[in-house]
Amino acid sequence: MSDTGEILLKGIGGSPGICIGKAYLVDKEGVDVVKKYAVSKADLKEEKNRFKSAVNKAKEELHSIIEETPEDFREHANILETHVVLLKDKMLYGRTIEKIEKEGINAEWALKKVVTSIKARFRSMSDDYFRERAEDIVHVSDRIMRNLVGAEQESIKDIDRRVILIAEDLSPADTCQIQLEKVMGVVTAYGGMTSHTGIIARTLEIPAVFGVDNATSIIQNDELMIVDGTTGELIIHPTEVTLVKYVKRRVEHELHRAAIARGSHLPAQTADGFTIQIMGNIELPEEVVSVRNYCGDGIGLYRTEFQYLSHPDFPSENELFDKYKDVVEVMAPKPVTIRTLDINGDKTPVRHAGTAEQNPAMGLRGIRYCLKKPDVFMTQLRAILRAAAFGNVRVMFPMISSYDEICEAKKMLDQAAESLEKDGLSFNRNIEVGIMIEVPSAVIMADVMAEEADFFSIGTNDLIQYSLAIDRGNKHVAHLYQPFHPAVMRMLKRISDVGKEKGVKVFMCGEMAGDPIQVPILLGFEIEELSMNPLSIPSVKRMVRAIRFEDARSFTKDVLRQTTAEGVMNLLRDAYGDILSDKVLNA
Ligand code: PEP
Ligand code: MG
Repeated sequence: MSDTGEILLKGIGGSPGICIGKAYLVDKEGVDVVKKYAVSKADLKEEKNRFKSAVNKAKEELHSIIEETPEDFREHANILETHVVLLKDKMLYGRTIEKIEKEGINAEWALKKVVTSIKARFRSMSDDYFRERAEDIVHVSDRIMRNLVGAEQESIKDIDRRVILIAEDLSPADTCQIQLEKVMGVVTAYGGMTSHTGIIARTLEIPAVFGVDNATSIIQNDELMIVDGTTGELIIHPTEVTLVKYVKRRVEHELHRAAIARGSHLPAQTADGFTIQIMGNIELPEEVVSVRNYCGDGIGLYRTEFQYLSHPDFPSENELFDKYKDVVEVMAPKPVTIRTLDINGDKTPVRHAGTAEQNPAMGLRGIRYCLKKPDVFMTQLRAILRAAAFGNVRVMFPMISSYDEICEAKKMLDQAAESLEKDGLSFNRNIEVGIMIEVPSAVIMADVMAEEADFFSIGTNDLIQYSLAIDRGNKHVAHLYQPFHPAVMRMLKRISDVGKEKGVKVFMCGEMAGDPIQVPILLGFEIEELSMNPLSIPSVKRMVRAIRFEDARSFTKDVLRQTTAEGVMNLLRDAYGDILSDKVLNA
């Protein structure tokens, strides 16, 4: 605390923007302190029934939240279906019943013990996805526990004033109930960028800060506070001076965004008349709205994992088709690049959580997973081809590391078309087929891959991870994750050269594509399409318009002579520092 009484807390910026308002603590009390007591043999049956009734009640509660979730949010509510399944999961339900029976203890204590051991197992895993799945178990058990001890279930939808939500963590059931007119911002102790709360906050454009230790014990109800979702800072009891500063900053932030957005309808054309396409990456169909609002030229990456992750079972062809068709129709005639399933790695479905791989990033993920599970793959390919009848669709295969994978995947695409033909369903097989270039072997073999691909899309998130041997989610080596690494520059050059020589279009859809500072390099390497988080579209377009293509081309020659990432950065600062310091660009 400062002399002025102001408290500054630091977390992770989960969703950009600034809000100022009063705190509302989402009450999770009443379930933490549970007592252990023995249950006599004669009463064990009743104790187990008490547990079963608490589970059934939790199930009814979840069902009614699902039913009350507005249509726009149905996609998010899918994860609640997964929670309904988790209620009866062997790990949770089966073991609690077993513990009551074997140890002759009360249901609350048995549940607490079981959850503690599940949490310890999942949370020690280095993978974000598994840690977040531990949270799913906690949310589900918390609901059961509340019913066991008779504590009230907190309902976010009943909040009757504009507030900033403060919580240990928000469950998907909580976030599904967020109403934009009531919730200005979100602060949680747990949760990361890839958490469900993060996705929703960014979709709704609500400022959010995650990972604030002790948030719920330090912050009191109704306290005035500032949330800066861009820097990850919280200020409690701000002074007049701080308030004025942040109000100004908020206005500036909004003006800057508006200023950039104003030019967003203009094409991404360099000062000397060279045009590239600026596309949006989406995970949820709702994000299409953002891409359209920021005038993206299409969808360069539609990550299709979410429907599988949030589904208790595999989604059906019709469910997938409906989602894809919605996106394709909204974007038509602009292209929608649907990437086939890339689960495992950092995205594992709940039903596979028990079969964790030692090193999922290098495990059965992406195309490898799909080729091992032809029925799952075929269902998705059929849905994509059917959606392609409604607009401009491209299909893209992730994690291609060898030539035979692309051949096999294309063979399956043909089989999907043949089966649709037989079933008399309308579809379009006349679509572009591309691959992600995100494994170093695909860069080396790019000339061979080019024989079978209409386009390459460079996935820098994985390509940097695999080529520099830096786990993209490991904070201890985050400083070594260098997009400017000369090795990365040389790979871009190789892919670009092969593309030109073989007549294969070269795109980029990794995070690097959405960073304005990278634009001179990417333009210089003649990447034709850059696909990014929709929020980045305006500033990347603005950067493209501020530079000359011919300058960028000769600039890459100097870039390729550099021996360190720092050298590349210095070069960029020297050549483009003025443009990059443009305040509007950095909003
Ligand atoms: C990438 O690896 O750069 C990419 C776009 O895919 P994802 O982030 O989904 O792995
Ligand atoms: Mg990838």
